[in-house]
Amino acid sequence: MTDKEQRYPQRVRNTLRFRQLDVLRVERISAGFQRIVLGGEALEGFTSQGFDDHSKLFFPQPGSVFVPPQVTDEGILWGEGPRPASRDYTPLYDASRHELAIDFFIHEGGVASDWAMHARAGDTLTIGGPRGSLVVPEDYAWQLYVCDESGMPALRRRLEGLNRLASRPQVRAVVTVGDEAYKDYLAHLSHYNIEWVVGHNPQAVVEALASTQVPADDYFIWLTGEGAVVKTLLGMFERDDIDPQRVRGQAYWHNK
Ligand SMILES: Cc1cc2nc3c(=O)[nH]c(=O)nc-3n(C[C@H](O)[C@H](O)[C@H](O)COP(=O)(O)OP(=O)(O)OC[C@H]3O[C@@H](n4cnc5c(N)ncnc54)[C@H](O)[C@@H]3O)c2cc1C
Repeated sequence: MTDKEQRYPQRVRNTLRFRQLDVLRVERISAGFQRIVLGGEALEGFTSQGFDDHSKLFFPQPGSVFVPPQVTDEGILWGEGPRPASRDYTPLYDASRHELAIDFFIHEGGVASDWAMHARAGDTLTIGGPRGSLVVPEDYAWQLYVCDESGMPALRRRLEGLNRLASRPQVRAVVTVGDEAYKDYLAHLSHYNIEWVVGHNPQAVVEALASTQVPADDYFIWLTGEGAVVKTLLGMFERDDIDPQRVRGQAYWHNK
């Protein structure tokens, strides 16, 4: 592996496990986010190495019994009956407390969002994964993060990780929120250069990024949010002078 390749984000695989976890606490940690803290014996061995990992959360119909699938050498064995709705969320694992937090952005008409609003201590939630991680070096000299509310938990996890570095890289984050009040979720990270775009306006995000000067080397670009927006943003960074291995773009949700 060349020195340059060693500086690329690296994929790692985890053994897939489905876990039925207990809701330990429910906390309204921000104007826009409901935190559900999960624990229990099944959390044993949980690992998540990438700041933008995802776990799949399962939401069975109220009153129905959901038996988590079994992972076998032949693949995943699902039980009888319809599979419940599932959604991807960023795992926020605290190894010192052996607890897993999930921060749900609360919005209209969502299975996951509604579940989070009604969850109570003692409820259970089945999660799968993370199945794999992209481990992105923390010390790239120049780093750009673009997201909306759905990516704020991953961004928060990342910036809290960077806080622990002896010397902080140059970070720019462009975060779009539907309401000014949602900024409070990142208030403790205001020592980073976070530019806010208030009111979902994809054009304003494009304009904020239009004059971005990407350095020749040692950079990382992370683009997430609504699918069509991410596609547009990715297009802005598909250039001959930008290494695609240093650009990560991922749709976090779709406008339906
Ligand atoms: C890798 C990854 C990590 C993610 N991590 C998180 C996380 O930690 N926290 C988090 O809140 N989300 C996260 N998301 C996004 C989350 O999975 C989606 O927002 C999901 O659609 C929410 O499910 P729901 O059941 O609440 O809404 P759905 O039933 O999927 O959608 C219901 C309606 O709400 C709209 N909608 C969905 N999401 C949003 C949104 N974010 N803002 C506004 N409208 C929306 C839909 O277009 C639809 O009209 C992540 C997604 C990915 C891919």
